[in-house]
Formats: sequence, C-alpha cells, structure tokens
Amino acid sequence: MTETLTPVRPGKLLINGEAVDAASGRTYTTFNPATEEPICVVAEAGPEDVDRAVRAARAAFEGGPWPKLRPAERQKILFRLGDLILEHGDELARLETLDNGKPIFESRQIDVPMTANCFHYFAGWATKLAGETLPVSPAFLTYTLREPLGVVGAIVPWNFPMIMVGWKAAPALAAGNTVVLKPAEITPLTAIRIGELALEAGLPPGVFNVLPGKGTVAGEAIVRHPGVDKISFTGSTEVGKHIMKTAADTMKKLTLELGGKSPNIVFADADLEQAVKGATTGIFYGKGEVCAAGSRLLVESRVRDELVGRLVERAKKLQPADPMDPKTRLGALVSEAQMGKVLNAVDAGVREGAKLVAGGQRQPVDGRGYFVQATVLDQVENRMRVAQEEIFGPVLAVIGFDDVEDAVRKANDVLYGLAAGIWTRDVKRAHAVARRLQAGTVWVNAYNFYDAGMPFGGYKASGFGRDLGPECLRDYTQVKSVWVSIE
Ligand code: NDP
Repeated sequence: MTETLTPVRPGKLLINGEAVDAASGRTYTTFNPATEEPICVVAEAGPEDVDRAVRAARAAFEGGPWPKLRPAERQKILFRLGDLILEHGDELARLETLDNGKPIFESRQIDVPMTANCFHYFAGWATKLAGETLPVSPAFLTYTLREPLGVVGAIVPWNFPMIMVGWKAAPALAAGNTVVLKPAEITPLTAIRIGELALEAGLPPGVFNVLPGKGTVAGEAIVRHPGVDKISFTGSTEVGKHIMKTAADTMKKLTLELGGKSPNIVFADADLEQAVKGATTGIFYGKGEVCAAGSRLLVESRVRDELVGRLVERAKKLQPADPMDPKTRLGALVSEAQMGKVLNAVDAGVREGAKLVAGGQRQPVDGRGYFVQATVLDQVENRMRVAQEEIFGPVLAVIGFDDVEDAVRKANDVLYGLAAGIWTRDVKRAHAVARRLQAGTVWVNAYNFYDAGMPFGGYKASGFGRDLGPECLRDYTQVKSVWVSIE
C-alpha cells in the first residue's frame, strides 16, 4: 500500500454528546476491504443503547435547546460543521477509503466536498422555512406554521457512509429535528467522526447521536421505538419494505431511497466519445456500488458495435489498484460478501446468454482485497436477471434498441425507477424522452451529477420521499393550520 495511516481510534457510540461503550459492552471489528486487515474495534449498539439515544434526542427536541434556538443560531452551527468537515477533509477521506475501499481520489474530490455542501446548503434553509398567511375569511386570521417532526431515525448504507450523513442529518437538523443515525455496520468510521465534529461545531448534546451496530438489532430497534417520529432510510428495496411494514405499528413517517437498475440511453446521433466516457463513469464510479449507477447501457443498434468496442478499451484500462494511491480510479468492493454477490451475478448473466467482453474476475492487488475487474456484458436481453436485478458492483449490461419507442419501453421495463441518462444531440428528443422515463433523476449528456440543491429519490420500487433540495424539507417538517377568530 502506498500510504500508511496513523492508527485509527476505537469507534464509540455517540449518545447525548458523549462517546460511550455499548451498554452490553459488545464490540466488533471493522475491516479494510482492500487489504482484508482489521482497522479498529467499534462499540456495537443494542436496543438499550438505542433507547438511551432516542431518549436523549427526545429530550433535546422537547425540552432542550435545538428547536427553540433562533434559526440564525442553528444556521451558524450547521454552517460551521460544513467548514469543519472541509478542514478535516484529508482525515475524513482517508477514513472513508480505509473503511469502504473506494479510491482516495473519490473520497477527497467527491465525498468530503459533497458532505460539507449538504451542511452549508441546508444551514441556509434553517432561516427560510416559513409558513403562510392564507386568505380564508374576514372573520379569521388564518396561517400555517411549518414545524419539525421530532426525532428522526436515519439508517444508512455502506456505499456512501459520509455523504449519507450529510444527505440525512443536514436537512433534518436544519428543520429543527434531532437525529439518531445508524451507519452501516461495516462502514461506521466517518459517521462517528462527523458526530464528534458536530459537537465541536456547537451542536448541543443529544441533538445528533450516532449508533454503529447491526441493522437487524440496532436498526430494527430504531424503527420500532415509539420515541422516533420518522425514519429516513437508504438501502435495499427488501429492507425498505420490511421497514415500511414495521414502522406502521408506530405510525412513523418514512423516506425510502432504495435500489436501482438505471438505464443510460445512447442514441446514434450522440457525441459518442462523451457517451462512452459517461457510460464508463456511470457504472464504474464508486466501483458500481452506487444506487443510481447506469447499470443498463441501452445503445441504438446501428452504433452498438462501435460503442461497445470503445467501451471495452476503456474498461480494460481501468485496472483495480490500491485505493490509497491518488491515481487509482477503481477500488475494492466493500466486503467479501458483496464481491461474491457481484461475481455470482456475472456468472448468472453469462449462463443466461450474455457475452462477457471485459473483466468478470476477481483481481487481487498485492495478493489481497475484494477487487473486481471493470466488467462489460454485451448482448444482454432486457428480460435477463442481469438486466433486471440490482448487482451493485462494476458490471455493465449492454442492451440494444431500434428506435425511440423501443428505447423508452426497455428503459421503463424494470421494477426500479431511480435514475436515467440520455445521450443525444437532438434537443427536442432529449426533453421528450426525459418526460417519458420513469425515474426520479434524468441526466442529459451527463451522468452521476449530484448537489445538495437538487432533489434525489425514486419512482416505483426505488422508494418515495426525496433526499436533498428544497423538496426534502417537506419530508422533515409538518404543517400546522392556525385559525384566529378576529371578530
Ligand atoms: P441493507 O438494505 O441491508 O442495509 C442498509 C442499511 O439498513 C444498513 O445500515 C443496515 O444495517 C440496515 N438494516 C438492515 N436490516 C435492517 C432492519 N431489519 N431494520 C433496520 N435497518 C436495517 O443493504 P446491504 O448493506 O445488505 O446491501 C444489500 C444490497 O442492497 C446491495 O447488494 C445492493 O444491491 C442494495 N443496496 C442499495 C443501496 C442504495 O443506495 N440504494 C445501498 C446499499 C445496498 P447493517 O449494515 O448493519 O446491515
């Protein structure tokens, strides 16, 4: 490995402003997927810890300072947290790469700035969330108040452990809620560190609590806890459905951002060089462990051979390498289990009749790590499992289409509806197709762009509710109507 790291401190739970051990004393070890070596020991939250954290968050909401603070003060604290994330950017980027296996290039250039961007952007909203005065009757003064929900339980996955803290906690806190966040069990380190930085920024104790632990234990306990008002979840559709059922018992509000099988559609009139670049980053950025990955490349049949040829050339150049090396663009998959799932999906695709034209194998670096080659499967039919099921790895399925109708039909013929890409020089066609795609985000002549100011979320089985943008603040607030008799 090219860069050594100072030893990482053991991870603790953050409850009521204090770093503590689990009540049970349980711990687990988190591993570096690039070296298969242990990183550090982490406290493992159980139901008792969840209860303590929820009580602390409730107290901070009901009696404590957070929702009662002047919005301008909340704004200042959240903005300061954004600044602290940037100031500690190098440390956070290294932790993220160590825990998740993504290239340090991505952690530095994308994860750190995007997380800070969330706190800076939503800090500004703290002073701008307003109700309305509504003209109803001369006999009444009628207005609405936009109020926070209470305690938000945020349950996040391992693919963007740091960014997800920004996506969930920043808007929830800006709106005056308090938060209990459970990072993915296998990638807890950056969420724990941001919890510490939040205290340094001036967030009062109990406002933001971090509970590393198992989804089926700590996650489940958060979803069941009557003191939690809302769950904001990102992860698999399967767990999303389970959370929806469980949350019904306590009438929790939900935001669910789930899986995807997003079409990236290349028309024959596109700038093919740009389209090939977009197809490559669309699937190989983040090792393909990206909910919005452009995992189905739909290509107009007459340019398919040319496009696939260029794509294969690029895929072969993209070699897995040490994630800590700043030149690396393809890191290690997050875990052995995820690597197994991805390799099995490739085998299944080949058995179904797809043609493996690049990659398809595990490729250890220095003899270790869960690295998988940049993989392209050609001649995929849209009905195949490899075209319908989320793989969550660096595996692209190439599917041909004949015309616009065929492209739209195939793009929408899938359970999911998270994102889509369109590559064309025809402006009319771009807008017309964008309207017809069943997807929460559509990129035209671009792929994988995100900003705190743009809503993100799914259609169909990709979930409901939105992260980011002004839109998500609706999901972290509720409206009270006030009637004042004035006659
Ligand atoms: P999960 O949906 O299982 O995990 C997401 C989060 O939910 C984690 O924090 C997890 O905890 C937690 N969780 C798991 N079970 C429960 C439960 N019963 N109650 C409450 N919380 C729970 O995804 P995986 O990490 O297992 O990945 C499996 C597949 O899901 C991937 O291969 C991929 O296809 C898809 N996925 C999609 C993501 C997306 O962004 N849309 C993100 C991640 C995965 P813990 O980590 O402890 O299990």
